[in-house]
Amino acid sequence: MPKANKNVNFGYYAGWMLNKNTWAINFMGGSQFIYLLEGEEKAMLIDTGYGQENLRAYVEKLTDKPVIVVNTHFHIDHYGGNAEWEKVYLADNWEKDASEGYQENDQKFAYPDYEKVIVGDGYEFDLGGRIIKVLRAKVAHCNSSLFFYDEGNNMLFSGDEFESGQTLMFFGELDFKTRLQNMKENAERLYALCDEHTLVLPNHNGAPIAKEYFLDYIGLVDSVFAGNAEIEDDLNHKYIGGFPGHEKFCRVRFGGASIFAVKEDVLKAAN
Ligand SMILES: [Zn+2]
Repeated sequence: MPKANKNVNFGYYAGWMLNKNTWAINFMGGSQFIYLLEGEEKAMLIDTGYGQENLRAYVEKLTDKPVIVVNTHFHIDHYGGNAEWEKVYLADNWEKDASEGYQENDQKFAYPDYEKVIVGDGYEFDLGGRIIKVLRAKVAHCNSSLFFYDEGNNMLFSGDEFESGQTLMFFGELDFKTRLQNMKENAERLYALCDEHTLVLPNHNGAPIAKEYFLDYIGLVDSVFAGNAEIEDDLNHKYIGGFPGHEKFCRVRFGGASIFAVKEDVLKAAN
């Protein structure tokens, strides 16, 4: 059992239990989720948020097991607090997603030269009676995404590749059409992996969500390729509406899923 067994608020964070050995940690009551998983011997922290300085102290309120830290991907709101720990597991190509000056951020923590260990598809973390399997995502939201699958607890951690009902598709080095096709293949793979009990746990906008969202993402990609996508010019999103380049963005919807992307790219992706 974790050390704490009820809702815990501390500093920037509020956390609550999803089951007796899994926590959702929310940053500042906003849209960001970090997850803490406990096995019999070790715990795993999935992402480190923006780098507010009390995350490690907060996590150590919840568990007294040694913590393995992993990143779903190398965007600043997911790796910001990495340097509070000695070692972090992450995907190859993380450098391509790092914000400029990310090492300066690390200087304010205890381990600015923390060790980065690259893991890929099929890698397994054994927390003691709890196996977490790594799946390497194809490049879609960004270049460095990993999914984490906890089959024993019916949990799939989807990072930002599939948020709750929306995904940002204006990053990444590949052309939009390729990334969109990759998004579809990621969704197909995850949908096939999940059974009817699986809860999908993204990092933004709420969690958990049903695996049926993957079908909506597949339908969304098909609608863009078919040239009949439901495109909205009004982004209806406070944060994305202030993002550099947002004047060119649109939101595309299909069922319960949506993406933000450059409108011109969406129109050009139609076959
Ligand atoms: Zn991201």
